[in-house]
Amino acid sequence: MESLDGKGPITMELVARRWLVPGILELRLGRPADFTFLPGQFLRFVMDGYQRDYTMVSAPDAETLDFCIAMVEDGRFSGDILKADIQDSVQLSGPHGYFIFQGPANPAVFVATGTGVAPFVAFCRCGMGAALLLHGVATPGRLIYQDLLQSACRGYVPCISQPSENDDGLKNAFPGRVTHYLEQQLTPGTYDFYLCGRGAMIRDVTALIDQQFSDSRLFIETYD
Ligand SMILES: Cc1cc2nc3c(=O)[nH]c(=O)nc-3n(C[C@H](O)[C@H](O)[C@H](O)COP(=O)(O)OP(=O)(O)OC[C@H]3O[C@@H](n4cnc5c(N)ncnc54)[C@H](O)[C@@H]3O)c2cc1C
Repeated sequence: MESLDGKGPITMELVARRWLVPGILELRLGRPADFTFLPGQFLRFVMDGYQRDYTMVSAPDAETLDFCIAMVEDGRFSGDILKADIQDSVQLSGPHGYFIFQGPANPAVFVATGTGVAPFVAFCRCGMGAALLLHGVATPGRLIYQDLLQSACRGYVPCISQPSENDDGLKNAFPGRVTHYLEQQLTPGTYDFYLCGRGAMIRDVTALIDQQFSDSRLFIETYD
């Protein structure tokens, strides 16, 4: 039984797949008629015996539902999705989630690590990029959607945790983790922080916000 109300499985077709950068795939699914979602929401891939969640990077009115997917060593979904063929069917449930833009109450700061940038890509594609975006990655080779984020966000700062001398040409880059940028560079004030990525970053940034920006609002999406 097909369902578009977020409760049951939906069948979609894999229509395209490409490498955004080594180790990060972009996957495109054909969008069923009448499927609606809010930027920042995710779909749950219902695989044979397990499930994985992935945030849509496409705008809600796009023809396809797009995802950026980090390949994880020995990852179950990572391996299975590499083996899938174009035109294969996948089962999903959703849309799920509440990590959506809450409006401009305070200046917004988006903080992502890795593919945690996905909801912010969707925000930017819908005119909700009036924010400072910090994108934390190990090396510049892991940055994705740079042109879009640079043009749509009020500020865009790649935070490179393992910088090298060859990174010199990278515009506005900060040599260090997102936590260090917030600690050292963000003007004291009251913000709406949106954090998305692995739990360790969420934990560290939340502690920092409690110490330095305690009147701020905080919205989080944890990827593990
Ligand atoms: C709401 C939500 C939205 C998400 N959206 C996205 C998204 O848009 N893009 C995306 O890439 N992921 C996203 N994730 C994470 C994703 O669902 C998977 O957990 C993850 O990508 C690994 O799946 P896997 O089956 O390939 O690996 P698994 O078999 O689950 O993991 C294998 C091993 O790798 C470790 N591991 C898992 N992920 C990582 C990682 N990123 N870095 C290092 N080690 C890891 C695991 O702890 C485990 O030890 C999201 C998670 C949630 C909860």
